[in-house]
Amino acid sequence: MWSNMDSLEMAEQGLLSTSASTSPLQSSVLPSDDDSSLNDNLLLEQNDILLTNPDYAHKILKSSQRFHPVPTVLQRPTNPANYTRIACISDTHGKHRQVSIPQCDILLHGGDFTQTGEHRLVEDVGDYFGQLLRGEDTQIRSSSSSATTTTMAAVATTAMQNTEREIGTVVASSPPPPSSRNGTVGEIICIAGNHDITFQPETYATNYKTFHPRDGPLDTNATKRLLTHCTYLQDESYVSNGIKFYGSPWSPEFGTHWAFNRSRLEIHQQWDLIPPDTDVLLTHGPPIGRGDLVHSGVRAGCVNLLQQVQTRIHPRIHLFGHIHESYGVTSDGTTLFVNASSCTLTYNTDNPCIVIDLPHDKRLPAVVVKPQCTLSGEEVVAVLKSMGKHQVAYCDLIPLFEEATPLVEGMDLVRDDLEIDDIACLRLEMHRQKNWFKLKRALRGFIMDLRVRSY
Ligand SMILES: [Zn+2]
Repeated sequence: MWSNMDSLEMAEQGLLSTSASTSPLQSSVLPSDDDSSLNDNLLLEQNDILLTNPDYAHKILKSSQRFHPVPTVLQRPTNPANYTRIACISDTHGKHRQVSIPQCDILLHGGDFTQTGEHRLVEDVGDYFGQLLRGEDTQIRSSSSSATTTTMAAVATTAMQNTEREIGTVVASSPPPPSSRNGTVGEIICIAGNHDITFQPETYATNYKTFHPRDGPLDTNATKRLLTHCTYLQDESYVSNGIKFYGSPWSPEFGTHWAFNRSRLEIHQQWDLIPPDTDVLLTHGPPIGRGDLVHSGVRAGCVNLLQQVQTRIHPRIHLFGHIHESYGVTSDGTTLFVNASSCTLTYNTDNPCIVIDLPHDKRLPAVVVKPQCTLSGEEVVAVLKSMGKHQVAYCDLIPLFEEATPLVEGMDLVRDDLEIDDIACLRLEMHRQKNWFKLKRALRGFIMDLRVRSY
């Protein structure tokens, strides 16, 4: 997460920067060479400003950036053996148990899984990952998970895999038991972010006084061991199923106390380490101009990261988070840029997991998979009743949906462009209820749950 105040401060610092650049930008992103008024000194100074002031850099770079339509599919490819299904989340900030995860081969987490590297949260994220791998209900902490839950989830998963059906009618044909809120995850790859401060012992040794003045310092020797059931990447590669992943927790510095921050003039040293044959790149921070727009309207992305991604690395997927309010996917025709921040600016987990199919044929592009729910109004009510046994908050939605059955008939409730307020107010008339704010939260949770069952 990156705050408005910090971005403004950094923009000012960037404009005033005069230090010599240690990472020359390529001429393609500098002002035109044929402008003879630019001498070498001015070029160097421009270079510093470009690197240190992302907002200014974006104004220069944006005309050369291409934004292609994001390749999207509604249906599972006919031969699942030809692709790897990747689910992307990031910036869960301790609220991981509120995020619904669909069935996938690999789950990626782009960092900031804690608020300030709290060990109890790190441990719980590891437990949560273990539950996802085992197909258990992740709303229940592992100490209370039972063998029965595991068995039910495994049966549900098998049933889902074996059921002949079209995408979009998943729940209609065979609703999985409510105990399997999430689909089964094959494996998990995770990086840290600037909030996961205990993962960088060198800086935590002094920074703990700011974040953990009473109970710190925590034993950073134990931190990484607590993050179980995942492949944790910190400036390193990992190959799975023929796909080369590289993960790096760094982001350009702001403020003075966060983890894995480096000066914009030096951060290229981290990106220089990324192998050029990387297929899927995970960095906590975004590149400039791609999922980096701060709510105040300024840019926060890294200029050198974009340059290296587009001119040297060419990954098929670049996953990041950090700027919560810039959640979403763009494409430059080669790379899918995925800001997968699960938390919004106000730290609500309202941004759904982003699902991508990566074809094993590397000539084919990665495609975003959209869920599609084609349930009838009556079937929606049936699913709600089934889930309501385990999600008490959903029970309050049942009479509203029953009454509004004709109004939700034929609606795709998980469509991306459907506003939750439209369903709540126009279809269900929730605004007439006393507890309408609570009802709306329950509706959002229900739609998230419906979503993960609709891939
Ligand atoms: Zn964050």
